[in-house]
Amino acid sequence: MRFANVNGRSTLVTTSGTGIDLARATGDESLADPRTALSRWEEVTERAAGLDHGSLSPAANVTWSENNLLSPSPAPGQILCIGLNYMSHAVESGLAVPEHPFVFAKFTSSLAAPFGAVTLANDTIDWEAEVVVVIGRTAHRVPESEAWSHVAGITAGQDVSDRSVQNRLGVNSQPTLGKSRPGYGPVGPFIATPDEFDDRDDITVSCTINGETVQSGSTRDLIFSIPKVVSYLSDIVVLRPGDLIFTGTPSGVGIGRTPPRFLNDGDVLETSVDGVGTMRHEVRARHAGPAGTRTASQPGSTE
Ligand code: ZN
Repeated sequence: MRFANVNGRSTLVTTSGTGIDLARATGDESLADPRTALSRWEEVTERAAGLDHGSLSPAANVTWSENNLLSPSPAPGQILCIGLNYMSHAVESGLAVPEHPFVFAKFTSSLAAPFGAVTLANDTIDWEAEVVVVIGRTAHRVPESEAWSHVAGITAGQDVSDRSVQNRLGVNSQPTLGKSRPGYGPVGPFIATPDEFDDRDDITVSCTINGETVQSGSTRDLIFSIPKVVSYLSDIVVLRPGDLIFTGTPSGVGIGRTPPRFLNDGDVLETSVDGVGTMRHEVRARHAGPAGTRTASQPGSTE
């Protein structure tokens, strides 16, 4: 099952551009809110599987596009992130491979839709394509062997990073703040349930800038696997439905290049997870653009 948030309503994705409104199809309006659907995920997957597509009311049909897709988990209580979780990225960062998962957060105010703009706060804004875990069942002290049963599904995330803030007090000293500017946590476009993947432990992620592939990796190369990360985090914090876990980025980020490369005004940033889909964001300078361009204080701006 692929799940989307279309204009704030829970939607089951059927084909490219079409879907089924979960509440209208099941006659249960309480499921319209994606937050509620995520909190009743087991029931949602069962009801979705039991739908008779031939007898659905036409009112249940939904069309979606990049203009109406919102973050599939619109109000996560927590966004947890794992740093340096691919060997190749640890090497390019010049940092030691951690003995335990290196954990930081993105403040939830950084969350953004899968299509839109990323506004440059300065000239050190970098990209990090990631596989993101969406929690579907409360997890506390969950063993690795049971971790997947607490996962609603997988989505794509872009851990946009302000490297000057991240490194303000020394290398990687302020990751939470450096990755939490508004709009710097786009997630989507869909949640794909674990059964959608041929191998849920081999999920590929990639990033392109203006069509050029800059990152490509697979979760089979994670230093700490998805079950390990869920189990490890759940041992310390309570994970709740809708919570997001950014699992780390493969090599190919801008700061790891010689010379370093960062996002520029006009760049098109695409973030893909196979089996999930592709997000696309236009990069904009903070104050650039013709008269009438939205500024920091206006709604809809990411900065
Ligand atoms: Zn990251």
